[in-house]
Amino acid sequence: MNDRAQGVAAAELIAALVRPEIRSLSAYAIPRGEGMIKLDAMENPYALPDAAWARVASALAQTPINRYPDGGADAVRGALRSALGIPASLGLLVGNGSDELIQIITATLARPGAAMLAPEPSFVMYRRNAVYSGMRFVGVPLAADFSLDAPAMLGAIERERPALVYLAYPNNPTGNLFAAGEVEAIIRAAPGLVVVDEAYYAFADASFLPRLPEFANLLVLRTMSKVGMAGLRLGYAVAAPEWIAEFDKLRQPYNVNALTQAAVVALLADTAWIEDQARAIRAERARVAAALARLPGATVFPTQTNFVVLRVADATRWFEGLKARRILVKNLHGWHPLLEQCLRITVGTPKENDLLLAACAELCR
Ligand code: PMP
Repeated sequence: MNDRAQGVAAAELIAALVRPEIRSLSAYAIPRGEGMIKLDAMENPYALPDAAWARVASALAQTPINRYPDGGADAVRGALRSALGIPASLGLLVGNGSDELIQIITATLARPGAAMLAPEPSFVMYRRNAVYSGMRFVGVPLAADFSLDAPAMLGAIERERPALVYLAYPNNPTGNLFAAGEVEAIIRAAPGLVVVDEAYYAFADASFLPRLPEFANLLVLRTMSKVGMAGLRLGYAVAAPEWIAEFDKLRQPYNVNALTQAAVVALLADTAWIEDQARAIRAERARVAAALARLPGATVFPTQTNFVVLRVADATRWFEGLKARRILVKNLHGWHPLLEQCLRITVGTPKENDLLLAACAELCR
């Protein structure tokens, strides 16, 4: 068979065999950032402090990679429990990024006909995972200022009876923190599990983690990605142990690799560096947001994350203009009607932010 004949035959098989909703997806595209100032992916811009790096290097050097990792990731979970004060009465599951945990949680609750509900715009992986698992997705638009439309959310919960609700707290891609009272009302009204996704907890003033014991249907999801460890891929879920036991059944036996386990344990041995870097990012966030807000025609939205969302006259012109100056940001225009002419800019180092602000000022001229 030549290449062309093989391609034609494969396409025919795919049309007959692959689920139509998967065929109509495109793969999650990740832009390349080599040589660019990368302000598009909510990464922590700072390198590891020397002492933390030395701990990681020595831990990795002692990790036998001919052996499978610890399947239960016990040392990582122990380190997370002590770093975050998670009591033994709560269950804790780790994943290959919180993305993997979203996949596991969704697949577990995807009974035929079950619905997933989330506000929109929010993190795109919720809806994608509903498609992967065959869950019915119910999106409820946010208000124009990106706050929750609480009556619409509660109405949709009453009508659709979702098995699963996702709330990003703070929200991505809008950056704001929903009102805690409204989140609580949703948890109380929901007949199913509510996942409060705190990917950006380190930059926010509020968390539902301490309130977990109050609710049987609450799970708090977090990640190490935004606090300087995106390359390691480690996320964690905290909930009643009964929930965690169910999710554990869908987890691949060795889902967190040995090098990641060793590195995370070494990094969590002293967490002051995480807090220092998060504090520096928050301070820079305030500076960047204030400077962007002074630009003519720019509207900056409130943020409790490590990124700033702004609306300009022509987001695509800004995106391209920044790219031409070797600065990569996220153009949100076209994602959702509420994000019209919006850009999402991750907070960088002070030097990167200076270059960003200078480039934005040029684009306003
Ligand atoms: N949740 C939210 C709200 C996010 O913004 C992200 C990353 N963009 C994730 C989860 C996934 O993070 P990771 O898989 O790196 O843990």
